[in-house]
Amino acid sequence: MNLEGVYFFPHTSRPVHAFASLSPERNLIIVDAAGTVVAQAPFKAVVVSQRLGRLRRRLKLPDAGHFETSDNDGVDAMLHQAGRLRSGGLIDRLERSVKWVVVALLLAVLSVYLLVAYGFPAAAVWLARETPASVATIISEQTLQTLDRLALSPSKLKPIQMQKARTLFARVSTLGARGAAGYRLLFRHGGVVGPNALSLPDGTVVMTDELYVLVQRDDELEGVFGHEIAHADRRHGLQMLYEGSLIPAAIVLVTGDPSQLGQIAAALPAILIETSYSRRFEQQADDDSAVMLKRIGGDPAALGEFLERMDRKLCGQKGCSASWLGSHPATADRAARLRNESGRSPNGGQTRRPAPHG
Ligand SMILES: [Zn+2]
Repeated sequence: MNLEGVYFFPHTSRPVHAFASLSPERNLIIVDAAGTVVAQAPFKAVVVSQRLGRLRRRLKLPDAGHFETSDNDGVDAMLHQAGRLRSGGLIDRLERSVKWVVVALLLAVLSVYLLVAYGFPAAAVWLARETPASVATIISEQTLQTLDRLALSPSKLKPIQMQKARTLFARVSTLGARGAAGYRLLFRHGGVVGPNALSLPDGTVVMTDELYVLVQRDDELEGVFGHEIAHADRRHGLQMLYEGSLIPAAIVLVTGDPSQLGQIAAALPAILIETSYSRRFEQQADDDSAVMLKRIGGDPAALGEFLERMDRKLCGQKGCSASWLGSHPATADRAARLRNESGRSPNGGQTRRPAPHG
């Protein structure tokens, strides 16, 4: 093993063309071109620089003289021969890399968690806000078609009942973010869907006959409408939709290619019917509804009483079926909150229009 390179005497910068080799006693021997030994030292006392790309290696002797060579492989072979680059070094490096692998893995898991826990909802909020009206209309139409095909049928309400509901709806919808013209009320027979109301992203509110007949007071129905208008205004449906299908949604909005829309919209009917809105969304919609009710002189607590009546009627023995209450075990909480908004005690109860509902 003979490495060719340059030797620098201690404390000078004078280079000498030289050769380095390892003696059987593991001494580093450096000779000049004439074969004269110019330096030697026990190899274990020699500091060898790390291999870094094609940089020249430096072998620093204890007396501060040093040898430089571009023969990287030769230096490694010498280290290996001297027992300094055996398993120990390898394990050392492996251990270090295992630590980094673990760190990298933890970072990756953390990133995915943060992305799913915060990134997706944040992106969904943003996408929902940025969704153009034309896209919201397409999604809404497809959703309504699906609901009509699979679950809903034409309403059996009498014209006078529809007229009454429309009047109340008009009163509340003037307070919606889009103004009265931005919303419409549709009537359907719920069938398997039961008592239900839902809003589509374009501001369409669908109410089932079964819900209507449970209503006893006008401001109960106004509360329901306010709640649904709030879901539409806050784009809760779109947010839920996007959280579940963020990537195709991003493609639609970035490329403007609506062919992905069908696939996305396919998820909305289930989201709306099964009322898988989060509790936070329900609370927001209840709160908004309470604000609207107060502005038109209604009683926010009426919605809470309506929720409790539905709960009693639907969730009696067998638990709740899919309905406007959905899987909310928190009906009592919601009712209490709404009662709080109206500023009256649980059983106190002046009502604005106490007449039975038609
Ligand atoms: Zn709701």
